[in-house]
Amino acid sequence: MLGIVDQLTEESVLMQQNAYSFQKKLESAYAEISNLKQTLLSTQEAANTDSLTGLYNRGRFDLDIAHFCNKEAPLGMNHALMFIDIDHFKKFNDDFGHQKGDDVLKVVANKVLNACGDSFKGYRYGGEEFCILGDFSGISYALNFAERLRKSIAKLCVKSKKSDKKQRAISVSFGIALFEEGNTTPAFIERADKALYLAKAYGRNRVEIA
Ligand code: GH3
Ligand code: MG
Ligand code: MG
Repeated sequence: MLGIVDQLTEESVLMQQNAYSFQKKLESAYAEISNLKQTLLSTQEAANTDSLTGLYNRGRFDLDIAHFCNKEAPLGMNHALMFIDIDHFKKFNDDFGHQKGDDVLKVVANKVLNACGDSFKGYRYGGEEFCILGDFSGISYALNFAERLRKSIAKLCVKSKKSDKKQRAISVSFGIALFEEGNTTPAFIERADKALYLAKAYGRNRVEIA
């Protein structure tokens, strides 16, 4: 009888040890999964973000705009796409160097990011072009938003490091399109792009609507 009790006690100690080691393995597996999840999230974020400006990148824009065009805007609102292109940007590179050009991209992007807040999405479409996707309660609201952002960017300038004197003003041109029934994604983009082309043709530092 005592022999059996001894054997049972030994087995129970062994089982306890096994359960403990299993729990430790489980805990370490959970920690590893949580680390992998975090890595996946940061990788996804990096894949969606433009590294220079911190805005969403072109790849993310392509995904978002397709989704945006397939989804109805909330009642009383319109989907809007805004293209924003820095005026005569090439001259910043040519006259002050690419580093300064990059600085100009960053300050403009920062204005775009701040203007978007949590309500809209801002992207670096490519080079010195940005765009914004958002829902507005009509064209006048979209126009007001764009004008405010345009004016805040027009206050920026490139200054001389030595004298702190203003060397060149910074400005952008806007092309806005409101989504229209039956628009395909490429047609929607083309309308905003054409409006931007008009803003450039009419003298830059201005907003045009498709
Ligand atoms: P417009 O007013 O008609 O838009 O003229 P623009 O000079 O802004 O346009 P253009 O397309 O002639 O020149 C864009 C320049 O942007 C050319 C390219 O070298 C520069 N660029 C594109 N990406 C970057 C970048 O990441 N950094 C810098 N520094 N320059 C860039
Ligand atoms: Mg351009
Ligand atoms: Mg430009």
